[in-house]
Amino acid sequence: MVAPHFVYETFPGRVVFGAGQLAAIAEEIDRLGVRRVLLVADRGAPGADRVQEHLAGRLVLRWEEVAQHVPVELAERVRGAASDSGADCVLSLGGGSATGLAKALALSHNIPVAAIPTTYAGSEMTPVYGLTGGAHKQTGRDPRVRPLLVIYDPELTTGLPAGVTGPSAFNALAHCVAALGAPNANPISSALALEAVRAIRQSLPTALTDPRDLSARGGLQYGTFLAGMVLTSTGTGLHHKICHALGGMLDLVHADTHSIVLPYVVAFNTPALPTESSRLADSLGDPTGEPAKLLWALAQRSGMFTDLAQLGMRPEHQRAVAEQLAGTENPVPVTADAIEKLLDRARTGQLP
Ligand code: NAD
Repeated sequence: MVAPHFVYETFPGRVVFGAGQLAAIAEEIDRLGVRRVLLVADRGAPGADRVQEHLAGRLVLRWEEVAQHVPVELAERVRGAASDSGADCVLSLGGGSATGLAKALALSHNIPVAAIPTTYAGSEMTPVYGLTGGAHKQTGRDPRVRPLLVIYDPELTTGLPAGVTGPSAFNALAHCVAALGAPNANPISSALALEAVRAIRQSLPTALTDPRDLSARGGLQYGTFLAGMVLTSTGTGLHHKICHALGGMLDLVHADTHSIVLPYVVAFNTPALPTESSRLADSLGDPTGEPAKLLWALAQRSGMFTDLAQLGMRPEHQRAVAEQLAGTENPVPVTADAIEKLLDRARTGQLP
């Protein structure tokens, strides 16, 4: 049964999937009706020379310096270079850092963004941008920064290390799980979330054991693409708030906390979300299983972190984090005591 009233906001855009599709970049850029491309290509990502070759005379500038969280002074420098070059489009090649810099340029110059992502961060599917000045990160939403063209070519991701692949896949899974219980969940976001979970669950173990498997890499791109759309329409939940608190207060590597925390958050919320939980179990490959245990088993099978003690968390840290999270909006009311218990189980890696 479809809910009688809901709003689903979507964006115009063209998304191309497939091994070798990087070669279609010139044709795809021509479809956008632009002629002068500024390429933001992260030096650490593969494929820039080939993109440059395909773009030929359409390329006016290749910019290689990118940095996490888009420092304002870096954005200002690329903006100056863009004005000098007369670019009428910015194309990013790389992960969330390259996409983020391209978005900063779209904001100031009002030019379309195209993206060839080489990680699974998902920024290419969101209208969210971030800029960092000193210790302050300013984020915002603006439809102009969302790429009008995205090319997902799995050949570009075969060299992505397991330490980036696994955590970003679990980050995407966490977005999907949060979407199922979000206050603004709707039939479209839930269908996309469940399909994303299915694709990621099927692809992740192989992508980690056989990184050159293009079908597994393509499956992860498809799953994280869907997760980016889901994130755009529903936002984040308790899981991400816990991971941010752990990252901020205890200086744990934020990305590594996802595979540990997610199963416990799912176990915590399962009693309030019976229908969503059985659909989630189905997407995780076992319709009669418990989704928390299935996620825990997936993290184990994928060789990822499964307890917070491995990351350096100690029992005396738990209360302060728990108190910070009390009152968070969530399907099950969040008290400091409940989060302290959740963190204790996550720290010791007990079966959720
Ligand atoms: P990243 O772009 O910084 O890349 C991580 C590292 O991987 C870099 O050293 C990079 O050179 C390297 N790399 C990239 N592609 C590679 C490949 N195919 N093979 C080998 N190495 C490769 O990191 P990220 O995780 O992709 O993105 C993180 C940034 O994105 C953060 O700043 C985050 O805030 C932002 N982000 C924004 C959104 C949004 O919607 N605005 C969404 C997700 C992430």
